[in-house]
Amino acid sequence: MDFDLTPEQRDLRQRVIRFAREELGAQAAAHDRDETFDRDGWKACAEFGVLGWPVPREYGGSGLDPLTTLLACEALGYGCADNGLVFAVDNHLWACVVYLLRHGSPEQRARFLPGLVDGTLIGAHALTEPETGSDVLSLTTTAVRHGDDYVIDGAKCFISNGTIAGLYVLFARTADSGPAQQALSAFLLPRDTPGLEVRRAISKAGLRGTPMGELRLEGCRVPGANLLGAEGAGYRIFTSVIEWERGFMAASQIGRLQRLLETSVSYASSRTQFGVPIGSFQAVSHRLADLRVHLELARLMLYKVGWLKREGRIALLESAILKLFTSESLVEGALAAMRVHGARGYVADLPIEREVRDALAATTYGGTSDIQRTIIAGLSGLPEAR
Ligand SMILES: Cc1cc2nc3c(=O)[nH]c(=O)nc-3n(C[C@H](O)[C@H](O)[C@H](O)COP(=O)(O)OP(=O)(O)OC[C@H]3O[C@@H](n4cnc5c(N)ncnc54)[C@H](O)[C@@H]3O)c2cc1C
Repeated sequence: MDFDLTPEQRDLRQRVIRFAREELGAQAAAHDRDETFDRDGWKACAEFGVLGWPVPREYGGSGLDPLTTLLACEALGYGCADNGLVFAVDNHLWACVVYLLRHGSPEQRARFLPGLVDGTLIGAHALTEPETGSDVLSLTTTAVRHGDDYVIDGAKCFISNGTIAGLYVLFARTADSGPAQQALSAFLLPRDTPGLEVRRAISKAGLRGTPMGELRLEGCRVPGANLLGAEGAGYRIFTSVIEWERGFMAASQIGRLQRLLETSVSYASSRTQFGVPIGSFQAVSHRLADLRVHLELARLMLYKVGWLKREGRIALLESAILKLFTSESLVEGALAAMRVHGARGYVADLPIEREVRDALAATTYGGTSDIQRTIIAGLSGLPEAR
């Protein structure tokens, strides 16, 4: 077993960190305050190649292997102070682009990937509905075949990048009867599809630099050529891709954990009370030691998931463990950083309070922690959850 990075991977990591620090995140506080999307940052990411890291060269990407892609994403999360911008990138790559990479036809890839890589097309993932969250199989948006087209009716909510996306990977019900697992289909829905309306922007506590939207679909007619995979394969496609989303979105969260640790260590070393640095109090140092433990263990699991995917192997269990552990660690780590910084952690002069707000949703999006535990229990041989 070799835990060393290659010289190329080390170099890429350094270059991404430098790029993220120098060219991204300077306006993070303003984007958070005003809930605005950093379009200049997005363009800079496209120019640097971020949006094409996992995409083959023939579509304009750099075709990085999964493990190297994870290292790059971790470095982006570490270096970029605007977690909202990074979350927009994560959603674009791991909830949209990856669907095309895994399940798109050659024609669909050729049609959409170049725009997704050069950043002119922003990707989003539209699964959740007002009455359907964790219980994916119960979704009620329908897609009915009319000749060569499908007509989609329904509503989608909490869609990251929802108000700015040019392409949605959308899930709808194509069968009324038969096995639930064969009743859903996935569609590639361009923003200008007639009958697709972005109803409203949703305001949220954190990650405010990632616009979130609610969609309405009324008689939305989409050509059969935009069906992703076969009709009825939507749930299978979702479960095969969700391990990428869960696993790969953890990378930037781990980068954030590293940043929180370094910021907190630096503060605990320079802030003095009772005549000594606060970091010399065991209560403070142990809090940060725990953060370090979480960071290192999350990173080990991240690299294992990257290795499994590089080897073309299934990582359903590992990505659920990684998602659960990293997201919970991020929330705990952000709260630990807030405690270490005292009042300065709470007021908006420093970015710590923003880090806490940005961290909170990690245990919900991509499947809640409860759902990850249920998956892990099921894959550990326990009876199926009711
Ligand atoms: C920041 C953010 C970004 C998001 N982006 C997207 C996106 O881009 N696209 C998209 O489609 N969706 C998105 N979502 C929605 C997200 O996927 C859902 O919030 C998530 O799947 C949970 O669904 P829910 O919120 O309806 O909660 P519910 O499913 O209603 O769950 C509520 C509570 O009940 C618990 N619960 C539910 N079922 C079980 C069970 N079987 N066992 C144990 N506990 C259970 C949950 O763990 C949770 O604590 C986003 C959410 C957030 C917060």
